[in-house]
Amino acid sequence: MNVNGTLINYYFHCKRQCYFHGNRLNLEDNSENVSIGKALHEERNKCNNTEIEIENIKIDKLTKEYLIEVKKSDADVEAAKWQLLYYLKVLKNKGILRKGKLEFIEKNKTKKKILLFELTEENEKELCEITNNIKKLILQDDIPKVLNESKCKKCAYYEYCYI
Ligand code: SF4
Repeated sequence: MNVNGTLINYYFHCKRQCYFHGNRLNLEDNSENVSIGKALHEERNKCNNTEIEIENIKIDKLTKEYLIEVKKSDADVEAAKWQLLYYLKVLKNKGILRKGKLEFIEKNKTKKKILLFELTEENEKELCEITNNIKKLILQDDIPKVLNESKCKKCAYYEYCYI
C-alpha cells in the first residue's frame, strides 16, 4: 500500500490505527465520528466546489499562496500538521510550491483557529523517515498495542480494540 495523507495522520494519532488502515481493515464507514467529518467535508465542497485531487491526495483548497486543509477539531494538531506537510511535498514534487494553512472549525465556536506551516529541508527529511517508518509498521507481524487513551472513544476502531 502506498503511503497517503490518511496513513500519515493515523501514524501520529495511533500506530495501531495506522496499522489497521494500512492493512485495509477499514471500520471507518461504521464510525459516527468519521461520518460527521465526511458529511461536513461534502457539504463544504458543495458550497465551495474547491476540492482538488492530485495523485492519492485530496486537497481542500489551493490558492496562489497556500494549500489549505480544513479540520473539524484541533484535538490532534501534530497529526494534521504532518498530513499537511505531506500534501505540500506531493505538490512540490509536481513543481507546485505552496505554504500550508490548517483551519480548525469547531462546533459551537464562532472563530476558527488557523496555523501556518512551511516545508523546510529539515521537515522534508523527517517526512521521508516517517514515510519509511509507516511502510515498515504496516508490514510488521505484531499489531501495535491498544492505546487506552480518551481519544479511543472517538476512534472508528473502538469496538475492534475494546469489545
Ligand atoms: S481505539 Fe484507540 S488503540 Fe484502537 S485504533 Fe483507535 S486510537 Fe488506536
